[in-house]
Amino acid sequence: MTAMKSILVVEDEPEIARVIRDYLQAAGFTVSVATDGESALQSARTSRPDLVVLDLGLPGRDGLDVTRELRRTSDVPIVVVTARGDEADRIVGLELGADDYVVKPFSPKELVARVRALFRRVDGRDEPGDLIRVADLEIDVPRMRVTIDDRPVELTASEFQLLLAMAREPGRVFTRGQLLDVLHGVAFESYERAIDAHVKNLRRKIEPEPGTTRYVQTVYGVGYRFAGA
Ligand code: CA
Repeated sequence: MTAMKSILVVEDEPEIARVIRDYLQAAGFTVSVATDGESALQSARTSRPDLVVLDLGLPGRDGLDVTRELRRTSDVPIVVVTARGDEADRIVGLELGADDYVVKPFSPKELVARVRALFRRVDGRDEPGDLIRVADLEIDVPRMRVTIDDRPVELTASEFQLLLAMAREPGRVFTRGQLLDVLHGVAFESYERAIDAHVKNLRRKIEPEPGTTRYVQTVYGVGYRFAGA
């Protein structure tokens, strides 16, 4: 029996906030709503939600700023909501550590599916797992913990899932599309550049020297591959 998951919805447009809240509640989640960035950060600090749905277009402190601030202190899963055409913001959001995104206008059902998929990824730690070791890098799958040379590396849920998928099959080439499937589980509208953003973050955290690719190698024109031992 798991506790009911709580979700913080950050959205300044009341009608959209209401629809999102209703659908998430109907899906069995506890939902609170913040209508600007400052109160979102305060709410995240005090109520510690299990996941944040964050509109990037907010008055005052914008969603990217909120994402950056949240990531300073927390690995809480974040789904950013962007306006159609704002691909640049979407990519920056992912680079700042957001786990997934939906594009307005979206169907509330799609958002619920994304939220569920993200929880499944985060809760993957409950499945019976194993230990993967490659050189100095160690992935403790059930604990969702990554260390390099016994030094812990903090990864977001998305970065962890990408690393795990690749490290389970060293040498296999993954296309960006396949890596997107790893993250979404379902084929939604998606952008392969999102994978590049996640991989960039992942490399920054696990590669021994900046600019080198000891673990996650680029396969030009195709995608990525985890280096064998
Ligand atoms: Ca807005």
